[in-house]
Amino acid sequence: MAKSPEVKLAVFGRAGVGKSALVVRFLTRRFIWEYDPTLESTYRHQANIDDEVVTMEILDTAGQEDIQQKEGHMRWGDGFVIVYDITDRGSFEEVAPLRSFLEEVKKPKNVPLVLVGNKSDLDHVRQVGTEEGERLAAEMACAFYECSACANEGGSVAEAFHELCREVRRR
Ligand code: GDP
Ligand code: MG
Repeated sequence: MAKSPEVKLAVFGRAGVGKSALVVRFLTRRFIWEYDPTLESTYRHQANIDDEVVTMEILDTAGQEDIQQKEGHMRWGDGFVIVYDITDRGSFEEVAPLRSFLEEVKKPKNVPLVLVGNKSDLDHVRQVGTEEGERLAAEMACAFYECSACANEGGSVAEAFHELCREVRRR
């Protein structure tokens, strides 16, 4: 039997955007309110995507690494989830520079990527419009999802991870 493909996915974004909450939501379908924000973890997860069993190795970065650590994570990964918090404009403004750095590190490879605007349940304190996220994703030529790690209606958290796996497998 053919060995199931393995993809290495790294989750990036400013500290506090909800990277750990999203990863745990994806893996357990549960929401856990507090994680140690300094913790970096990797998880293995198998999923059936388009009739193929894919093994994901997921790196949940802490979001406060120095430049060398960041570069190491970028070299390690095959695909990347870049997360911002829709209630934190600063986290959105960090996306484009992060992506440029990623391109630089992976050059000349084209980098499989998805953009996630998290905390969509906090619409009343939103600082970043949905159209802005869509526009940025279009500029980066990647898929875009607005999600909530705590109110995951429609399952868009899993959809974002699965789409990233497809994107990696297409390359
Ligand atoms: P990380 O530093 O990016 O890993 O962020 P965490 O996953 O530790 O989350 C930071 C804070 O945001 C925690 O207090 C979480 O409970 C909260 N949080 C994460 N995702 C969501 C979400 O979708 N909605 C809301 N309302 N809070 C969230
Ligand atoms: Mg975290």
